[in-house]
Amino acid sequence: MLKVENLHVSYDNIRALQGIDFHIEQGEIVTIIGANGAGKTTTLRAISQVANITQGTMTFKGKDLRSYPPEKVVSELGISHVPEGRRLFGNLTVHENLKLGAFARKDTDQVKRDIDRVFEIFPRLLERKDQKAGTMSGGEQQMLAVGRAFICGRELMILDEPSMGLSPLLMKRVFAALREINNQGTTILLVEQNARMALKFAQRAYLLEHGHVLKEGPTEEFMNDPEVQKSYLGG
Ligand code: ATP
Repeated sequence: MLKVENLHVSYDNIRALQGIDFHIEQGEIVTIIGANGAGKTTTLRAISQVANITQGTMTFKGKDLRSYPPEKVVSELGISHVPEGRRLFGNLTVHENLKLGAFARKDTDQVKRDIDRVFEIFPRLLERKDQKAGTMSGGEQQMLAVGRAFICGRELMILDEPSMGLSPLLMKRVFAALREINNQGTTILLVEQNARMALKFAQRAYLLEHGHVLKEGPTEEFMNDPEVQKSYLGG
């Protein structure tokens, strides 16, 4: 589905990604783990075409991803991005935020069904449908961010640290919802500080270090790797 080769990204004179290769197959859940500053967020931003890509090829379903502007990555390719920090419209209600997720869609009837589906997955959002997003708790906002991504792009969902700031219970709920979204056909790429949880959730993983891919493979292999255990899973 997504194939990335020799990807380089820089911020002024910082070379954040120095030639990484990775791929994601349709229907998979893939995770990228790595220490702070390894380049995880940058990789997601590069997929969404909001990073300064200096070299590399990126194909999504056979199309040249680099030729798409960020808004078309969402509206034409169906790739949605849940960024770190959520970026909701705090002054708008839950329902308005979800409707905005569909800004580029013309299939209004299906959008309504998808919004109902989000309310089924997260009953809490239905209860708070008319509440302003900015007044909701961190966990509720995270649910809304995931729900909105579900509305705006159904092919590939990329998530940056969805567990951040969530209690263990809410974290479980968000991950259960993501599992369900995946069961319904959306491919998922997940970046997580909580490597243990990410490795349990995904089927395949990449380990990034200083802008390079250090290791890739099935998540069981990562969990059984003594080096990964020592450095990323707390021994
Ligand atoms: P974390 O787990 O801490 O979020 P990360 O793996 O997501 O880290 P990135 O945010 O992708 O890492 O950052 C990769 C490198 O690029 C880091 O060295 C970082 O300092 C640098 N970087 C990221 N954003 C910018 C920016 N806007 N300007 C300059 N340098 C940046």
